[in-house]
Parts: sequence; C-alpha cells; structure tokens
Amino acid sequence: MRFDVIVVGAGPAGSTTARECAERGLSVLLLDKAEFPRDKPCGGGITVRALRLLPFSIESVVERVITDVYLTHKQGSGFSRRSDDHLVSMTQRRNFDMLLLEKALEAGVTLKERATVRHVSRDATSVDISTDDETFTASVLVAADGANGKTAQMSGIEQNFWQQIALEGNITPLGGMPEEWQTCFGLDVGSVPGGYGWVFPKGDHLNVGIGGWRYVGPGLRNSLNNLAKFHGFESENMWGLRGHYLTIRKPDSPLVDGNVALVGDAAGLVDPMSDEGIYSSIWSGQTAARNIADYIGGETADLLNYKREIESELVPELNISLRFHDLFQLNPGLYMWAEKHTSLVWALARRILRGDQTYVNVMLTHKATGNLIDFLSDLVRVTPFLQRRSGLRDPALPQRFFVRGNAQT
Ligand SMILES: Cc1cc2nc3c(=O)[nH]c(=O)nc-3n(C[C@H](O)[C@H](O)[C@H](O)COP(=O)(O)OP(=O)(O)OC[C@H]3O[C@@H](n4cnc5c(N)ncnc54)[C@H](O)[C@@H]3O)c2cc1C
Repeated sequence: MRFDVIVVGAGPAGSTTARECAERGLSVLLLDKAEFPRDKPCGGGITVRALRLLPFSIESVVERVITDVYLTHKQGSGFSRRSDDHLVSMTQRRNFDMLLLEKALEAGVTLKERATVRHVSRDATSVDISTDDETFTASVLVAADGANGKTAQMSGIEQNFWQQIALEGNITPLGGMPEEWQTCFGLDVGSVPGGYGWVFPKGDHLNVGIGGWRYVGPGLRNSLNNLAKFHGFESENMWGLRGHYLTIRKPDSPLVDGNVALVGDAAGLVDPMSDEGIYSSIWSGQTAARNIADYIGGETADLLNYKREIESELVPELNISLRFHDLFQLNPGLYMWAEKHTSLVWALARRILRGDQTYVNVMLTHKATGNLIDFLSDLVRVTPFLQRRSGLRDPALPQRFFVRGNAQT
C-alpha cells in the first residue's frame, strides 16, 4: 500500500505530525508497536506553552491544574512559590496520547497498532517500511519513535545525543490527596547530577520521580526511595515503577536526511533545563507537517526547510536552556536562594512555562545578563573543575567566549 507519508510512533510528536499532514490533505499511515491506550514513562505535566500550541482543548484528560510549586534543595527544608496563573496541566500519558491519536484519526489518518517497524529501505523519492507481516511505501518517512527509537538508524541515519535517564513511581495517598498537593507540584534540586526530583499530583495519586545524566542510572532506585520517604511516603507502597531515557540534542543531531524527517525525542528535542519534551514534540510535529505538505505539493524540492525552521526557532531555545541547565547544576543552592529571596526568578519561570516569554527573548531583553550567562556557561565548558562540579562528563563545546573549532551549541 502506498501513502504520501508514513509516521512511525504515535506519541505526541507522531500523532501531531500525522494529524497535521492529514489536515493538509495528505494520505498518512501511522504505525506504532503498542496498542492504544498505552502508557509511557512520563510525569504527564503539560505546560501552558505546550497547551497553547494545540488547536483543541485537552480538558477531558486533565486531572489537576497546577499554579504553585514547592521547592526543596537536597531534600532539606523548602518553601512554596504561589501564583494565580495556570502553569501546568497534570494528565496521564495513556489518556493524553489517546486524545491526540483520536484527533489524528478524526483527520483521516490510517492507524496500524501492534506494528513494530523492523526494516526501512529507501531511494531519493520513495521509502519502504516493513513490519513483521506487511510492507508499506511512502514518499516521506517521519521517525517519531521516541528516545529508544530505531527508525532513523534503520534508515541509515546516525543519531547522536546527550542522554538523561529518569525513574518514576506512583503513590496513592490514604484518605485522598493531601491539601498541600491540591494545586502544587514539588521540585527537589541538587540531589542528582544533571537533573531533579519531582512530585506531580494527579487525580487520585502522586507521580514521584527523579532523573539526571545517564551515568546516575545505577543509583536512581535509591534516590527515588529517599525522595518518597522525604515527602512522607513509604517507598514500599510505590507502584508502577518505570525508567526511561530522555534525549538532549547535540549540535549535529540530525533533523532531516533526504526523505526522512525526525521529530520529538527521536530528534533529541527535550528541553535540558526542565526535561519538558511534549512542547517540542508538538512544535516539531507541526513544523514537519507544514514542510512535508509543501514538499509533496511540489512547492519545495526537499524537506530542508523543516531543518532550517527548527534550527532557527526551536534549537536556539534548547541551546540557551542547556546553558541555564549547566549553570544551575553548578550551584542549585544559589538558584534556590535567588528563587526564595527575589521575585525575578519565579516571575521568569512562570512566564516561560506559560509561553509568555522565550529563553531567546530573555537573553535579548537582558543583554548584560545574557552575556554573563554565555560567558559563565562557556567557562564551565572549558574548565574541568567546574565541569565536575556541575556533573558534566561530556560538555558541549563553548560557543561565544571560548570558541574552538566550529562549535555551535
Ligand atoms: C520519567 C520521564 C518524565 C517525563 N516527564 C515529562 C513531563 O512531565 N512533561 C513533558 O513535557 N515531558 C516529560 N518527559 C519527556 C516526554 O515524555 C517525551 O519528551 C515525549 O514523550 C516525547 O514524545 P515522542 O512522541 O517524541 O515519543 P514517545 O512519546 O516516546 O512515543 C514514541 C512512540 O513510538 C513507538 N515506537 C517506538 N519504536 C517503534 C517501532 N520500531 N515501531 C513502531 N512504533 C515504535 C512507541 O511505542 C511510542 O508510542 C518525561 C520523560 C521521562 C522519561
């Protein structure tokens, strides 16, 4: 069977790409190895900036609306930051992904579940994709198969990421949701190199998790138990324990190769500072769909505009986020101090979560601070002592103040 587009993976990136291609009149096949509704290890926190990208409401799958945060440093004493603004909607991925998939099906997408892609072969104009029992052909292939995906590799594309790892579990509190978690999520910083711990309240349970750079993997179970105990929960009562990788793009992480486009985690588009991946998954899916439609409609000769758009709009955001992340990891305690004693950091975090301000905008508006951040993060990237302090084992190359070679990050 021949389609205009085959999308592998029906997570947020794949369903969005498929829906937006179908809405532009393309024939689309969406393949996933799972059967839906399926779950995915994820905090299920959808920021307002991500919600704003979607042309429909996700209210039917939202279990809690978050306005506040409870911050702790190395599981020590903490403080709350409150706001009147809606910051994050808490959902469960099995329900959220099902909703996005239903929207794709309504737009006319053909879905095949329990269809693991095993083989890809392609030439300049056509791609053949084989599952265990069928082969499909399309003009364009979209790899939306997540952090562990192999579609790009099967297409002869070499992926190259920094990897983070996170472990999560759930706690159902006896007697219902405690008052303090009704509209508040918890963040614990400084316990794990490269990441943080979280408590995300859902309808009837709390999702508790912790993550950091890939090398922290072996100690994560212990760290998660400690985090649960710190918040007053018995770790033995935790259910649904699961771990998963997150992909952080490197300067040469591929986005397009001929007639194959990579979106979401398959393209390494997770925000390094917050580990938010759903926003970029939707953004990249929408950008891919627009450019695929132009290519198939004959308006462009290739898919390179997708790469150009992501590199000029989304990648600068992720690069600045990586700089914030490296500096934050150097001294999370200092960040806590600034968060507690100034209103600036909390105001900035709120504006970014809501999409009222971008990282790029922050750097351009506060040029002196932006230059200082660039300088300090370059300094971390060239100084082994600072790298060790901020937990970096494979730092990005410096970009502005200590440039070596063709570093772009
Ligand atoms: C523990 C944890 C917590 C997180 N919390 C948050 C959060 O709160 N908010 C947030 O924004 N982000 C969060 N993230 C990141 C977020 O989960 C990801 O960025 C997001 O899921 C990426 O979406 P995707 O569509 O690219 O990939 P995925 O959601 O991973 O979907 C990929 C799909 O591809 C399918 N697939 C894979 N291989 C094949 C194959 N060979 N054939 C067919 N199908 C295949 C899979 O079955 C899957 O359905 C978290 C990540 C982790 C690990």
